[in-house]
This record gives sequence, structure tokens and C-alpha cells, in this order.
Amino acid sequence: MTASEQKLQSPVQFIKTVGPKRGALMEKSGLRTVRDLLFCFPTRYLDRSTLLTSTQAVQYVLSGYEGEITIIGKVIGIEKKQVRGRARGNEILIVNMRDEKGFFEMIWFQGAKYFEDRFEAGQIYAVSAKPTFSKYGNLQFAHPDFDRITEDESKHFFSTGKIIPFYRIPKDLRNSNIGDLSFRKIVTFALDEYLQYIEESLPEEIVKKHNLLSLSETVRIMHYPNSKDEIELAKRRLKFEELFFLEILVAMRKNNYKLKIKGHSMQVQSSLVKDFLSVLPFELTNAQKNVLHEIRTDMIHGEPMNRLLQGDVGSGKTIVALIAMLIAIDSGYQAAFMAPTEILADQHARSINKMLEPFLEKFPQYKIKTALVIGGQGKSKRNTELDSIARSGANIIIGTHALFEGQVVFNKLGLVVIDEQHRFGVIQRARLIQKGEAPDCLVMSATPIPRTLSMTLYGDLDVSIINEMPKNRIPIRTDLRGEQRLPLIYKFIHDKVKEGYQAFVVYPLVEESEKLELKAAQQHYDELSTTFLKDMRVGLLHGRMKWQQKEEVMNRFAAKEFDVLIATTVIEVGIDIPNANIMVINDAHHFGLSQLHQLRGRVGRGTQQSYCILVAPDETAAASAKIKDNIEYLAPALLEKYKASIRLQTMVKYLDGFKVAEVDLKLRGPGDIFGTKQSGYPEFKYADITEDGVLLVEAKNEAFDIIRKDEKLSLPEHKLLAKNLLEHYSENLKYAKIA
Ligand code: ADP
Ligand code: MG
Repeated sequence: MTASEQKLQSPVQFIKTVGPKRGALMEKSGLRTVRDLLFCFPTRYLDRSTLLTSTQAVQYVLSGYEGEITIIGKVIGIEKKQVRGRARGNEILIVNMRDEKGFFEMIWFQGAKYFEDRFEAGQIYAVSAKPTFSKYGNLQFAHPDFDRITEDESKHFFSTGKIIPFYRIPKDLRNSNIGDLSFRKIVTFALDEYLQYIEESLPEEIVKKHNLLSLSETVRIMHYPNSKDEIELAKRRLKFEELFFLEILVAMRKNNYKLKIKGHSMQVQSSLVKDFLSVLPFELTNAQKNVLHEIRTDMIHGEPMNRLLQGDVGSGKTIVALIAMLIAIDSGYQAAFMAPTEILADQHARSINKMLEPFLEKFPQYKIKTALVIGGQGKSKRNTELDSIARSGANIIIGTHALFEGQVVFNKLGLVVIDEQHRFGVIQRARLIQKGEAPDCLVMSATPIPRTLSMTLYGDLDVSIINEMPKNRIPIRTDLRGEQRLPLIYKFIHDKVKEGYQAFVVYPLVEESEKLELKAAQQHYDELSTTFLKDMRVGLLHGRMKWQQKEEVMNRFAAKEFDVLIATTVIEVGIDIPNANIMVINDAHHFGLSQLHQLRGRVGRGTQQSYCILVAPDETAAASAKIKDNIEYLAPALLEKYKASIRLQTMVKYLDGFKVAEVDLKLRGPGDIFGTKQSGYPEFKYADITEDGVLLVEAKNEAFDIIRKDEKLSLPEHKLLAKNLLEHYSENLKYAKIA
């Protein structure tokens, strides 16, 4: 540790005005060292351009504005009121305020006692919230954010436009009288004394090349900016650094796969693949041919393949995977195909066998044998399969995660295909890879992944994208309908069934308990099959069925024994029933976007026009129609309110899964969607990959360049990077090697 760093590591109590008692409190709240405090940045800033007077605020409310605003005022009175008819927390707190133009009030319906003690007449506060009018017509801010400022700060603020920082102060500190004012003072003292000790954490060259502020300048500005532009520059520096170190980790992880045991270089022995293609009933799309070329090139190479195959729902990823497996087989290896659920594994086994059948009939000289390993298999069946894998010639092995349980012994595993990746953690992937001697690994994503995400979460994989649908496809028609229209929708199904169509009717899972779920499923079924769908053959699928039962229903549907399939569970990702061409999704507003897109992807796989009908309550459908032309431009404040409507309109507007995924990312954030927490990568404090795509590319290129030249960061100019990785990212270094 350098002398400067030692200074920054001093306990907070040494900062002027802190002392041992407050120091202990701050430590308890996670602010242990001076460094901790200096890097505890304001969560908001007050600047004159965002401030309104009470008169302006009134105008805002009258004009229908629904966003948050900030206003500064002085406390003139505090009232606590009893509210009749409220059992618990039957007190409300009103704090009356004044600014130079007029009056307003803050109000709390909960926690009156707690907040009451926080205010005193004469104190000045910056108040932020959505303004409304009270019953008596007063301008009112309910449960606002409020930050205390001094008379001086306020004067200064109004005369010079100085920006004031506001911190999220830990509750324990607040309760012990370290409020806004004292906290700001402590930060000022810390900056005065210690800012000089902050050392640059990025190599000088990178700072220059990317036009970054120095780290100490950044810290200074984050606390006391002179302008909003300055804040942006400081944030850019923080984001860049964060993204850069992340990409260093990604690059190292990727590199690490290659440093491991040597992989196989596959050499095909015959014209197996060519012969297989000659009996395939369709021609591969150009996109499929392209990705196969990339995959084949990887497989021929000695380094193990680590490739992500992306493609929209229905773009034909399975056939690509099968051909990759055939390449492995023709080179004398076994190939494993891992699916996320039993039912999918079994369906894949069936469809792969079906695709192989005509081929093996015509070319009996090829020895291809499939095996299936899934839970719920009988013991003797399981043993036969295990034996077949270890000794008697199974070379396409399909299964669930049961594939990497100890029992399974591969004979010569050369390729692993993982379907629908994001349900599997990195660790599981690593475990399966350990089974072979660094087999080639092809990961297929079920849902398209936005580019920014695939550059981070999957940045350690090479990426192949199928960006084209098979030619025979007619785009699915997607419509949004109010519930009122259900009879018409059923009539539509009726008419279409006469033409030979089959339909899915899906309900969301709303019941918490298993019993209720079963009842609801049965109810939907009874109701529909005795009314609207009464002269049709109706099947029922629900979450309380064992997978074998589900599969039986699904197979009967595929065999056209049912015209309509009612499903209360999400129809499994990846199920392929080309003849089903209508998808009705009831209460569509309860589903997430990727679920909706997956469901829609169950139709449109055949050669007929297919339909996806989203059904929502009449009001929701109406509200949704209102915003349909500007879903992209909705103000952040409105996003929350219109989330469901945005999802529905996104489905109507976009068929392209990558577009849908982008909106999803914006609405939900990355952590929620792809389990970023399990990825083994650090979480972001400053960067937001839905917005910082450009910076991400910049950081990635820089990081990958560095690791390409110096994979263990051992060159003198990279000493600093290695040191910072070890100091701040040690937990994330599991998959990286460092000098
Ligand atoms: P996904 O990418 O969603 O996994 P699948 O692999 O299940 O898609 O393919 C969807 C359907 O398209 C399957 O019925 C498959 O046989 C068919 N298919 C795949 N490739 C082609 C092609 N090039 N031309 C016509 N149909 C194709
Ligand atoms: Mg699939």
C-alpha cells in the first residue's frame, strides 16, 4: 500500500469534527475509512434550473404535469392530526412551509411520530416529490424527499446558482443527529484534507486516450460540481472505469478457457453432414449456413470452442445444433445436448430421432445412436442408457442437468450443446465441461439478448447470430383486444379450426396455492369446453401435472387429437408444434415481455398465416392504445405507470425478438432478466448498460486489447491495473489468472 493510500485508509474519526463517538456510528453504517466517505457520492443535486417556486408548482399541477419537482421553503408550523376510522398508524403529520411566493405543505400518512421530530420551525428544506392539491386546495407534497440546507447555503444558492449535493444518509446516523448539514460539513473537511491523496487508478495512457477526468478531479466534482456538465464528465469517468474493469474480467475469463487443457481438433472422416443435408426436407437459410461455418471453424481448431448461438424464437437453432453434433460424430466423438427441462429434453430427443430416421434409412452405413438421460426415468431404462453412453455406441446424448451428475460416464465427449442457456449458471456450465477433456461448447439462447448484455454477461463467449427466419414463414399477426371481445375471438378460433388450424389458449398463473391453481385450470377448461368451444376437442395443460402427463397432452395436441389446448402454465419454452397457428393469451398484462415473446414464438412455425391475440381488461387495452404511438418516448416518470401497456404495445409493434428484448431490458433492468448476480461479475454502481452502450464498447475494446497483448497483466505499464483488480475485484477473479 502506498503512503497516500494509507492516508485514505485512516478511520473516519480522524476527519475534523467527527471524533471517536460519531466515528463509531459512521463505521457501523459502512463508512469505515476516509476513502469510504470520499467515495460516498451524493444521490441528488439541487441546482437552480430544476427548482420551482410555489406559484410555478401550482401552475405545473394545473397543467396536468405528473412528474417530480423540487421546491425550497422554510418550516412555519407542524401539525399532527388524528384520523378517524384508521385502525393503525391513525396519525398524519403535516408540515406547513413557506417560500417567497407562497405556501405549501408536506404530508405523511405513515410514520408521523418518526418524522415529527425531524422538523423545527425556521429550518429550510429542499423538498422533492410529485405535487398535488390537498382537500383544502393547498399545494401538497406527500411523503417527499427532503434535504435540509442552511440559511447561508440557501442565500448563496439563490444568488450564485451554486449546486448543492444531497446524500442518502444512513438511518442510524440521522437518528444520532448527523443530518444533511453535518454530513455535508464532514465531507467538505474530508475533501480539504484528503483529496490530495487520491491516486489515479487507471494507466495515464488510458486516461488520456479516452479523455477521462483524473480520479481526484472526479471525486471533487462529484461532491462539489460547478455545473451539470461537470457532473456528467465525472460520471463518465466513473462509468468508464467500472465498465473497463468488468471487461478486463470478461477478457480474462475468455482467455482462461483457452489456457486450459488443449481441446480437440475435429477432423471429419466422411461425408456424413453432406449426406444428412441431402435428405433434409428444407434448405438451410444463409444465416444458418453462416453460423455453421463459424462453428465448424471453431471445432476444427485445437482451442476449445466457447460460442453463443443467438437467434430469435423459431429461427431454427436446433437443426444447427444437430449438424454441429454430426460434425463431432463424424470426427469420432460423442456429443451431448442439454436442455433445461425434462419435457424439452424428451421433445428434443424425439425430434432429433425423427430428423435422423429418413437419413439413416438412406445411409445405413453411418452409426448414429441417441441416448436420453432425464429424471423420472425408470431405473433399468436409465442403466441401459448409461451403459450405451459409456460402452455401446451412443453418440448423441440428450438430457437435462442429470447429464452432469456423477453417474454419467462419457466415452469420448467432444461437444456439448446447451439449450436455453440463461437458466443455467456459469458454474453448471463449467461442471459439464469438466466431464470431457475441454469439449467444444455451444450455448444456445432461448431469447434474443440485447447487444450490450451479450457483451458483458456473455462477453467471454464468441457470438454467432442467426439473423434471418426460414423463408417459408409468414409474419405472425399480433393484436391486442379488450376482454369484451372474447366471444368474437372464440368465434374466430371456431372458424379457423374448420380450416384445420389448432389454437393455444393460455392463462397466466395467478393463484399462489397449488390447490387453487388446479381449480382455476379446471374451471377455465369446464367453462370453455361447455360454452364457446363446446363442439371442439379441447385439451388441458396445467402446472400441477407431472412432466410425463404434460408431455402426453402435448403429444396428443401435436398429433391433432385436440383442436384447442388450454394451458394455465406457460407452455414450455422451445416446444415445436408447427400446425398450431393461433395463440390467445388471456390477461396478457400479467405476463413479462420475454414470456409473451416466447409464447408467441410457439406459433408461426408452419406455412400458414398465424395469429397471436393478446387479451387484456378493456381499460388496459384502451390505455394501451392511447400510448401506442409513443412508447419509446414516454418520460421515465410515466414508465412505471404504463409498464403493462408498454409491454403489450411492444408486442403489437415488434415481431423482432431483439427489439422486444431491448424494451424488456429498459423496463426491468439486467439483473432481473438474466440473473446477473449468478454470473460471477461485479454489479454496477455507476454504469447502466441500457444507456451506456457506447461507453461500453469503448471500454471493451480497450480491455480486450490489453489482455490480448498481456494476458496476465504482467507488463510494467499494467502493474497498476493488476493491483487494482486484486484490491477491488478479488472476489470476481475466480475465472481469471493474474500475474
Ligand atoms: P428455435 O430457434 O426457436 O429453437 P427451431 O429449431 O425449433 O427454432 O425451429 C423452428 C422450426 O423451423 C422447426 O420446425 C424446424 O424444423 C424449422 N426449420 C428450421 N430451419 C429451417 C429452414 N431453413 N427452413 C424451413 N424450416 C426450418
Ligand atoms: Mg429451440
